[in-house]
Amino acid sequence: DLLVVGSANADLVIGVERRPAPGETVLGSDLAVHPGGKGANQAVAAARLGARTALLARVGDDAHGRLLLESQRAAGVDTGGVLVGGAPTGVALITVDPSGDNSIVVSPGANARLTPEDVRAAGDLLAGAGVVSAQLEIPLETVAEVVRARAAGARFVLNPSPPAPLPPDVLAACDPLVVNEHEARFVLGDAAGHGPEDWARALLALGPRSVVVTLGAEGALVAEGGTGASAVRVPSPRVDAVDTTGAGDAFTAALAWRLSLGEDLATAAAFAVRVGAAAVTREGAQASFPTAEEVSAL
Ligand code: ADP
Repeated sequence: DLLVVGSANADLVIGVERRPAPGETVLGSDLAVHPGGKGANQAVAAARLGARTALLARVGDDAHGRLLLESQRAAGVDTGGVLVGGAPTGVALITVDPSGDNSIVVSPGANARLTPEDVRAAGDLLAGAGVVSAQLEIPLETVAEVVRARAAGARFVLNPSPPAPLPPDVLAACDPLVVNEHEARFVLGDAAGHGPEDWARALLALGPRSVVVTLGAEGALVAEGGTGASAVRVPSPRVDAVDTTGAGDAFTAALAWRLSLGEDLATAAAFAVRVGAAAVTREGAQASFPTAEEVSAL
């Protein structure tokens, strides 16, 4: 089974002609409220593909929290690990201008209150998970506790987003560390080389067991540590991209699920790029995630 540990946010989206300057007020479109957050997105993406998926997260005792629980349940996610209360549900306040550029303010809210203690109290969920997938929209100490508390032999998948410095024990557990170009550059800092192969090599040198670099329309690059390893390109199907929101979450969820079925990294990535490609053909994040049938039809 797959366990996703991460954030759940309500995305509050307003279209604007232009952003307000300090002290100014502008009028925008009607408000749209969508379930989001990287953890919630990954769990929905995996469950929609048919994966047995549970989510460990925290939401507020409020309407946004109920929206998030409802979208998880509708996708078939086991929500027994979604804790309620302690702070308002996390929110992303998003304005979109006519060129499609976003400006976003995130209030982590309940996500910031998902504690290492919450992880320790979720022993049954952790014991039942063959793969645990995390991101960084929850406290880093909570992610570090997931690494320690997961079952012996459980595989740990990390998308370090938003990017932050990672402690060595967390890095060493990643199998794989999944980064897009922006995250790769952040993690590597000055050590970043010139292309994805350089990044993969440099990232492996930081200690993870394996690395996946996602490359948008170009697909992904996978690299495993150990002797004689070399990076392998996994091309993405060519599609008409409409909205890339959530593509990385769909990719990582699909990858983690296929790894939980025992596929090797390159085979799992070959499936995941198809899921990512399908997700960019539709608007939205969770609304764009495909079923297994839709992936086959691609
Ligand atoms: P992120 O959304 O985290 O920035 P990427 O942009 O690398 O991540 O996208 C993740 C995956 O989604 C890619 O590996 C690819 O499979 C798919 N994808 C993203 N953009 C496109 C695109 N324009 N065409 C086809 N597939 C895409």
